[in-house]
Order: sequence, then structure tokens, then C-alpha cells
Amino acid sequence: MSFAARHTVEKIRPVTAAMRFPRSLTARERAALDFLLSADAPTVEALRIQAQSVRATGYCSCGCPSIHLQADSEQAPEAMERFPVISSVNDPGDGEDTLWLLLFTERGWLSFLEIAWIADHPPKEFPSPDSLATFSTPETD
Ligand SMILES: [Zn+2]
Repeated sequence: MSFAARHTVEKIRPVTAAMRFPRSLTARERAALDFLLSADAPTVEALRIQAQSVRATGYCSCGCPSIHLQADSEQAPEAMERFPVISSVNDPGDGEDTLWLLLFTERGWLSFLEIAWIADHPPKEFPSPDSLATFSTPETD
């Protein structure tokens, strides 16, 4: 099953200052990214350095708060290995509000910070930092 299917619903998003890209990450986006990068995983050190100067370059086209990322290659090293997708689960006891965070890299660079959900409607924003409780690093390849 694919949570990505949730991202196909077309939705018009009002234009606000926060939509002008590229921009710095919001506090919640930053907290979500830092949380995911707190995992003990291969090549995570390089990604933590990338995260210090990373910019958000656009929202997911479906209307959810997921953001595309662009690291500054002049200020950060390329990650040497493929980074596994890291997911977090918050409030796993509440099916309606359970969310996942996933971090994708592309060719060694941060590329997409995704939020996935199982409720009928996408969340309006990334979860508050204190709800980020657990994470796992699924095996890749
Ligand atoms: Zn989306």
C-alpha cells in the first residue's frame, strides 16, 4: 500500500507569504527535519550539515504541507551513501491523527520532507515537536 496516493488530491492553496520559495524552513518544518536527522543512520552526519543551510523550494502539489528541499552544495558536503527513508510515528494509539514523517534524499542531497497521514484530510502543518516520539529506519535494498 502506498501513502503517496494521498498526495494526488488536487487542492487550491491560498497564496501567502509562506508560499514564496525558496525560503527558510518554518519552526515546525525545522523541528521535523532535525528530529528525523537525530536518527543513527549511515551518512547522517553529512545530511545534518546540509540541514543547517537547507531551503524549502516548494510545497507538495497535492496541498499537504510536505516540502521539497534544496541544500547548499557550497556550504555542505554530499552524503556518500543513499540515505534510508526515515519515518516517525506520532500518537500511534490514535488512528485518526496518526502521521508519518519521511525524509528523502536524491543523489546524496536532501530532497523532500514528507508528511503522510491516514485521516480523510491532510494535516495543515507539520506536527508540533513534542509529538514526535518514535522513529525507525527501514532497511533499504
Ligand atoms: Zn502532498
